[in-house]
Amino acid sequence: MVRLASSSGGIFTLLAERTIDNGGVVFGAAFDKNWDVRHICIENKSELRKVRGSKYVQSIIGNCYKQAKTHLDTGLEVLFSGTPCQIAGLKRFLRKDYMNLKTMDVVCYGTPSPMVWKMYLDEVRLKYDISQIIDIQFRDKTEGWNNFSLSIKYKDKDGKEKVFRETLNENIFMKCFLSNLCLRPSCYAYPTRNGKSGSDITLADLWGAENICPEVDDDKGISLVLLRNKDFTLPGFVKKEIEFSKAVMYNPSIESDVTLPDKRDRFFRLLHSDGIHKATVKCTTKSRF
Ligand SMILES: Cc1cc2nc3c(=O)[nH]c(=O)nc-3n(C[C@H](O)[C@H](O)[C@H](O)COP(=O)(O)OP(=O)(O)OC[C@H]3O[C@@H](n4cnc5c(N)ncnc54)[C@H](O)[C@@H]3O)c2cc1C
Repeated sequence: MVRLASSSGGIFTLLAERTIDNGGVVFGAAFDKNWDVRHICIENKSELRKVRGSKYVQSIIGNCYKQAKTHLDTGLEVLFSGTPCQIAGLKRFLRKDYMNLKTMDVVCYGTPSPMVWKMYLDEVRLKYDISQIIDIQFRDKTEGWNNFSLSIKYKDKDGKEKVFRETLNENIFMKCFLSNLCLRPSCYAYPTRNGKSGSDITLADLWGAENICPEVDDDKGISLVLLRNKDFTLPGFVKKEIEFSKAVMYNPSIESDVTLPDKRDRFFRLLHSDGIHKATVKCTTKSRF
């Protein structure tokens, strides 16, 4: 259940639960009531679902660095999760090491612009006559982990509950994201990539699992865990060591920045006149849309 609701193998939830069991708090990215993505602080396991799952939008940190410092100064265990640049930012904000701080980042392809996400949701609302969004999953595994979908559970104008689901190859927001058109400018030259954020642990998808460890691959999600300077041994999960080079072979975002497309400026110019769908189609070659 947790694994299916998680992007990869659900290791984040194990780390978070352990922190809360120790009386600590967990920071992570959640949707707010407007479906913008922002960091929040979680104190109870029952609320972990809010921060579970990747949201492919730059999350707003707000005052979470300050809140984390307050908790750390009172001696509470803190697990702070985020993108590598958010973890590097936290470390610069704190300006000293805390024994009670554990930091976890994700291997990050790059984060799409919140404005583009907002425009996408507006287009979807209009197209599907949505009166209320109930839930959004960027990594819905209904069609499998490898062929994941963006799904939106909603109520239409008649109050009927419906689900809109498109796989990563069908969905226009994912197309825009994975064509690198709408990433934040800093994502194209990411100085904190590949362990340079100073995080204790990095989580990712073990892409290529069908070749690396076919004996455990069931297309429901396997986590790649890159451990650095702290012992994160966890009970209750199946562990297998693999060569770093193998992981990178199937997951270039571990080491390499994404390419800045020539058409990024054009995309942002077109966005306001044409909307995300048309702008993405116009700026991607061999488009299926
Ligand atoms: C923007 C982004 C790009 C990614 N790119 C890659 C990639 O190229 N290759 C790869 O292998 N893995 C990538 N990941 C990581 C991967 O998708 C999983 O998040 C990771 O493996 C953890 O999965 P899990 O199953 O352990 O737990 P999950 O429950 O899926 O993990 C959720 C964790 O991600 C954090 N998170 C979610 N959304 C955001 C956000 N917008 N900003 C900051 N933190 C967020 C939460 O706070 C929580 O800690 C990316 C994640 C994000 C958010």
